[in-house]
Amino acid sequence: MLETPANAKTQIREAVAAVGAKGLDATVVAVEDALVQAWLMQRRGVLGARDVPDFVDAVVSALKKIAPPPPKKVKFSEPLRKILPLAEENVRPAADVALLLLALQQVGDFTEVTDKKRKDYELFLDDWRRMTWESAKITDWSKFRELVFKDGKERALEGRLSRDSAIAVLEATHKRRTDNISPIPDVSMLACARCGGLRGRDRVLCGTCKGTFCTKCLGPTADLCLADYAARYAPIDAETRQKIAADVRAMLKEFKLDAYTRNDSFARALKERGVDVTFVDTAPIEGQESEGAHGRVKFMIRDRESPTTKRALFGALARAHFRNAGVETDPLRTDLFVELCLGLPIEDALRSSAVAK
Ligand SMILES: [Zn+2]
Ligand SMILES: [Zn+2]
Repeated sequence: MLETPANAKTQIREAVAAVGAKGLDATVVAVEDALVQAWLMQRRGVLGARDVPDFVDAVVSALKKIAPPPPKKVKFSEPLRKILPLAEENVRPAADVALLLLALQQVGDFTEVTDKKRKDYELFLDDWRRMTWESAKITDWSKFRELVFKDGKERALEGRLSRDSAIAVLEATHKRRTDNISPIPDVSMLACARCGGLRGRDRVLCGTCKGTFCTKCLGPTADLCLADYAARYAPIDAETRQKIAADVRAMLKEFKLDAYTRNDSFARALKERGVDVTFVDTAPIEGQESEGAHGRVKFMIRDRESPTTKRALFGALARAHFRNAGVETDPLRTDLFVELCLGLPIEDALRSSAVAK
């Protein structure tokens, strides 16, 4: 087993250097093995997100020696490029090299890397694909897919990696190289740890469980997955949670409210519940509540059609709800009420984490 990213880089450089002596098959297998181990290092935290770009850069420059870009001009003085044979069974590891490089690019912090560099990695993957095709005598995508999917469309590697996504990206890159317009599909190499989805490139690491999640399966704070976020509501007993959820459903239905309803509809609903809304630009962003006449409540808020304003308006509805029910206002229950108004599947998340434990 390789211990460090440096070991993985060394294994790749040595495999590339030995291609003449040992052949392309041995090289591809050794490169794929080194990248698998680098991926596992990333999962263990040995290869940090900020160290990934340097790692990818070193790997790509080493691999360019066996998969160079097509020559701009053919010079007869240069020796003819030799195409080394690659066995059909090693097409899958060759494709997994591309898959792992794409997966690493997805979880690494590439914010400091120039667009030119990123474009360079994209072109390299197409060169790598071309080398694979020429060496294994593949001429079309269906044959390529057939060979790559022999061991399944996915690869389980502390998470599920999608060969299907990788090939979709490679195919689009190939097309783009000729027509300059083909879009690269917005798919992930890494299945979301909650929904298993591959759509949408963005993946975020949860600070608690260290799983990687799609944006839909994150909690509102974005550093926690939905299940770990929902855990904050576990202290409220299940019966109370269900009662709150039922009340929320009834209220949303009665006033036809959701996270996108216009502010004046909220004002009407609040009025019926004893809260008079005044829209003023000087109000704090989360709104401000004060006592009004005849036991009514005044709520000042800015008239913005923004998520923050909707959250604040639902907050006012939540407090009014508990007040009218004669229950002492409790911040956690108020938050839960708001979260449910915004459609967050808290119960689902709590249930799935209970099953997982
Ligand atoms: Zn998801
Ligand atoms: Zn988590």
